[in-house]
Amino acid sequence: MAYDGEDAANLVARLNAELRDAEPQAVLRAAIDLFGDKVAMVSSFGAESAVLLHMAAQIKPDIPVLFLDTGMLFGQTLDYRQKLAAELGLTDVRDLRPQFQDIAVHDPSADLWKSDTDACCNIRKVLPLDRALEGFDAWITGRKRFHGGARMRLKVVEAADGKVKFNPLANWSKEQLDAYALRHKLPAHPLVEFGYPSVGCWPCTRPAESEDVRGGRWAGSDKTECGIHVPRADGPALDVGGDI
Ligand code: SF4
Repeated sequence: MAYDGEDAANLVARLNAELRDAEPQAVLRAAIDLFGDKVAMVSSFGAESAVLLHMAAQIKPDIPVLFLDTGMLFGQTLDYRQKLAAELGLTDVRDLRPQFQDIAVHDPSADLWKSDTDACCNIRKVLPLDRALEGFDAWITGRKRFHGGARMRLKVVEAADGKVKFNPLANWSKEQLDAYALRHKLPAHPLVEFGYPSVGCWPCTRPAESEDVRGGRWAGSDKTECGIHVPRADGPALDVGGDI
């Protein structure tokens, strides 16, 4: 498989046809073969992150891994990011932090999350990731359909904001993830044993109170996504929509 500069919409349609039922490792290999140094993986080093990071490390340990250090993460997540990257042999994990000026202007007291979670996610997640992705043509995410909500329509390959997005685990179930982690003896995020099936920033994450894996994220509000997977209204025409 090679990227011959074909029209982006055609490329995404072709890749989806080829990879729709492929194993995650095959999707990862296709992304890396096609885009080489122009593809990055985005990881939260959260409760489910170890599986995809382990698969990537087997194929390309120097793949750029973009980690959003929002300044609001649990200390356990920061420790886990260090430990897991070292254990898996990932050599290019990049810590993305909010821009000083954005924090100084919009969130000097670090409490914007109390009044406007979308604005807080924008300066702490969306903008830092947008800046980091400028040098890439494609990125890899860890989203799965079993997360529910809009993710139930997630495709293995999608296009958004001028880039191709690969979701190698889109088809996988929670049971498949757990079995893989067990088989490869992957260390769990330290908060999993305390009832957190999904881990984000500390102000916006609670232990799960239901079967909904992401039910503890922004609990009590309508918010279900931080914004990094929401297409920009003013994004380039590549966005084919309907995927997230
Ligand atoms: S998840 Fe909460 S604390 Fe983290 S960036 Fe979004 S609103 Fe802010």
